[in-house]
Amino acid sequence: MPELPEVETIRGQLAPRLEGRKLARVEILDLRLTRPYDPREVAGELEGERVVAVDRRGKYLVLRLEGGGALLVHLRMTGAFGFEPTSHERAVVELEDGSRLAYRDVRRFGTWLVVDDDELEPYLAGKNGPEPLGARFTTAWLADRLAARRAPLKAVLLDQRVVAGLGNIYADEALWRARLSPLRPANTLGQDEVARLRRAIRAALRAGIDRQGSTLRDFAKPDGSRGSMQDEFRVYGRGGEPCPRCRTPIEKTRVGGRGTWYCSRCQPEQRQPGQRRPEPRRQPERPVR
Ligand SMILES: [Zn+2]
Repeated sequence: MPELPEVETIRGQLAPRLEGRKLARVEILDLRLTRPYDPREVAGELEGERVVAVDRRGKYLVLRLEGGGALLVHLRMTGAFGFEPTSHERAVVELEDGSRLAYRDVRRFGTWLVVDDDELEPYLAGKNGPEPLGARFTTAWLADRLAARRAPLKAVLLDQRVVAGLGNIYADEALWRARLSPLRPANTLGQDEVARLRRAIRAALRAGIDRQGSTLRDFAKPDGSRGSMQDEFRVYGRGGEPCPRCRTPIEKTRVGGRGTWYCSRCQPEQRQPGQRRPEPRRQPERPVR
């Protein structure tokens, strides 16, 4: 499933091909893609529109349209874009320059939604917390979200309203970087650990963007090439292999129904001695006048 680094990679490749171009012809071949809206109506709304920008918010691709509003694409499990004809095409867009952009989706969980200008920000804000690579994703904000939840840390991190764009892969990678157990109740983290986790989330996502995402099974970039992040995973999918930090075999478990990989030595379930929650800072005493 594409996560923030994969969607960002796709965005980066679509932007130069789509920005400033008119969608000359739009054909939506799958009823499920635009449900509950009629695919012919959605295609009609898009046809003739010019794309002014291709943005990303969490795992959503946001194609901003000249007439106001946007097409929001969520790739879910297996959605992908490509400029070559392929199998499992669910929509085809012909651009005014004659190029043909196909949307492919084997499992058919992806969605296309056209929203008006005034609906766009409220819609995205309702589904996504702050961008984890942006300035609003602060330790204080993350600490507040985690303090309110007793669920296992990993399950909370997969909530898009907590960390927009994080999914199963980069959550495992971030927790390993932060040396935190995916099984720790989210509300037991100290401030020092939350700060470490925030840095680790950002580092894991940046590593993914630098490698142009990961290619597992059939995820491909719009130019048909593959990302290379899968070769760089520290724990994800590496059960039984040595931890890159301490050589302990990596374990696999399930958290919230999702396959979860971690190092039981680097990421112990109990807080380590000497890592106690820091005492609340006392107010400095005011000199008495
Ligand atoms: Zn380890």
